Amino acid sequence: MKKIPQRMCVSCRERRNKKDLLRVVLSEDGNIIYDPTGKAPGRGAYLCRQQSCIMTELKAHRLSKGLKQSLTDDQLKALADEILALCAEEKALEE
Ligand SMILES: [Zn+2]
Repeated sequence: MKKIPQRMCVSCRERRNKKDLLRVVLSEDGNIIYDPTGKAPGRGAYLCRQQSCIMTELKAHRLSKGLKQSLTDDQLKALADEILALCAEEKALEE
């Protein structure tokens, strides 16, 4: 049986299948970007595909700790907007 890779959401700290999580990665220039491929180089962190987890996370600045890099509110907000827009798109496709 093939083992499914598990990752922990930095917001709720639940372990989930890697494919069920969103990966964000810290780019070389210190920016935080959403990584849809899950393979971008750099230090990454994982979040549930849930608005609650994403918003809680961004407010608590846990991502900064997880990535060992302080991020500005603007960076976090831009990331949240991108992810939430994406989640809304995916949801629209499912319906
Ligand atoms: Zn979560």
